[in-house]
Amino acid sequence: MKTILITGAAGFLGSHLTKDLISEGHRVIGVDNLSTGKMSNIEGLLKNDNFVFIQENASSEEWLLLNSLSDVREIYHLASPASPKYYQSAPLETIAINTIGTMHMLELARRTGAKMLFTSTSEAYGDPDVHPQPEHYRGNVNTWGPRACYDEAKRLGEVFCYEYFHKFQVDVRVARIFNTYSAGLRSDDGRVISNFVEQALTGKDLTVYGNGMQTRSFCYADDTIRGLKLMMEKESASGEIINIGNPTEYTILELAERVNQITGGNCRITFHPLPVDDPKQRRPIIDKAKNLLGWEPVINLDEGLRRMIQVYRSANREEDR
Ligand code: UDP
Repeated sequence: MKTILITGAAGFLGSHLTKDLISEGHRVIGVDNLSTGKMSNIEGLLKNDNFVFIQENASSEEWLLLNSLSDVREIYHLASPASPKYYQSAPLETIAINTIGTMHMLELARRTGAKMLFTSTSEAYGDPDVHPQPEHYRGNVNTWGPRACYDEAKRLGEVFCYEYFHKFQVDVRVARIFNTYSAGLRSDDGRVISNFVEQALTGKDLTVYGNGMQTRSFCYADDTIRGLKLMMEKESASGEIINIGNPTEYTILELAERVNQITGGNCRITFHPLPVDDPKQRRPIIDKAKNLLGWEPVINLDEGLRRMIQVYRSANREEDR
């Protein structure tokens, strides 16, 4: 049994990871300021003796002095808004959590000797002019635009990890997470899969931005979380940046059609302006994850969408009762 700190524990990936690690018998200290995370994601855990919840911001300092943190053996720094809608409505907080917050978690790792995993993003590649994206591609990121607060903050977070790894030998690894989804995304999350599924299940138009020819590669959350846990576990990941994503690429229009097909709805597809700096294409090369971790996703898009839609439908049935 290990004591594991997870920032962003009430968030989408954080709450899935917290439940997973507790079910494996670990003790989890979950930190979240509930800016985009939701208490309802972790409510079921509050009675569990192996879960401690701290409602704090990882970019503020006071709570870092708590004695209970001296037992921490692993730190997953997941806290950050991740949907463009949310990070663009809180840009300064997004910069802080991914830079100052990352530095705080690295300091804590240095003090306690804990291993640390920082969740970076495929956005570190910006609007990539190399396709698909390997980890050594340095990216095409705009510092002067609405996505910069997220992209550049994550990139600086990676730099903090690099420096603490080299200067203080903190045992750190960086996951560049590509688009990930499952049930549990907020209904107002604003990202494409939660929008389309929500729209399809309520009989609304599916809102495609631009002409829908831009691409993304979608990884089911269970696969993502398995990848993150392996990154923490494996010595081979220490000091490494690793893409965690599904290498099967779809246009956004194809995604809309698949959601329509799987829900059985025949919603209209409508076209809307493309957001500024929206990346045109995105697909990970995952050879590094395969070689270093023995990891690759096993749940394809259709299966993932079916699982997600099933959860939404049974939740709606519960509400109707
Ligand atoms: N998108 C869309 N309709 C929506 C939401 C998003 O067409 O209702 C598009 C968006 O413009 C982008 C892609 O879907 O090209 C993925 O957007 P998302 O916000 O999910 O994540 P991103 O990968 O851009 O961070």
